[in-house]
Amino acid sequence: MLDMFSLTGQRALVTGARSGIGQAIAVGLAEAGADLVLLGRESTMDETVAAVRAVGRDADTFGADLGDPAAVADVARRILDRHQIDILVNNAGVILRGRAERFAFAEWRTVSSVNLDAVFLLSQACGAEMLQRGAGKVITVASVLSFQGGLNVSAYAATKHAVTGLTKSLANEWASRGVQVNALAPGYVETNNTRPLIEDEQRYASIRDRIPAGRWASPRDMVGAAIFLASRASDYVNGHVLVVDGGWMAR
Ligand code: NAP
Repeated sequence: MLDMFSLTGQRALVTGARSGIGQAIAVGLAEAGADLVLLGRESTMDETVAAVRAVGRDADTFGADLGDPAAVADVARRILDRHQIDILVNNAGVILRGRAERFAFAEWRTVSSVNLDAVFLLSQACGAEMLQRGAGKVITVASVLSFQGGLNVSAYAATKHAVTGLTKSLANEWASRGVQVNALAPGYVETNNTRPLIEDEQRYASIRDRIPAGRWASPRDMVGAAIFLASRASDYVNGHVLVVDGGWMAR
């Protein structure tokens, strides 16, 4: 029965795999049997590469600024020229904080480009080939801020809401053609993304105290859900937003 979670013979592309959730998911997928393509801002992701190879899987790396649509299209082509991508994990994301009335439009555009435009472009490029084969998994990384507005994160919350809309839209188009598209929505995870909240003792504690599980997540907490969404076990799951938040949204 556990065989349905095996990723042996599959190759997964994980964006933003140098650190945090992307690194944990990449290593987790490798532990489940997948070979990896790791995409980062820079192609050097030594720690992630070493961890993937330590479990006996292959890791190839590519670098691109996902905030630049031309660079995204170019790197997608280079990756697909070299590899068949069976699983795409659109993990890379950026959060820029600031009060909406003073938030620079350039920053809005940066967040939109990385969190939304790149997700569409990579899903389109990889999805087109998956559709030709009649099989594939696309996972987007949403957030609890796909449901809530947050504080001082207007661009981030807007893009994370949009990511779930895009996920459902792609799922509707591709479900009957063998490609499952779903979102993983983490709660509060200790990574670079949340560093300012972690360093603010009061804010860190107030968030922790609102989480029914009583603790922040570690990136490793996201791995089980990612393997599920990447594997045959989720073949009849389409357009779902799988919240992994220690109960934050239930409260
Ligand atoms: P992280 O450690 O900062 O990871 C973000 C990754 O995205 C990094 O690897 C980063 O690359 C990459 N990235 C950012 N801008 C990029 C660009 N222009 N081009 C290429 N790569 C870029 O933070 P994280 O928490 O693991 O974030 C991963 C995903 O989870 C994001 O989509 C985030 O929105 C989402 N998320 C996080 C939380 C949380 O509580 N931490 C909660 C909900 C959702 P570099 O390493 O090169 O900077």
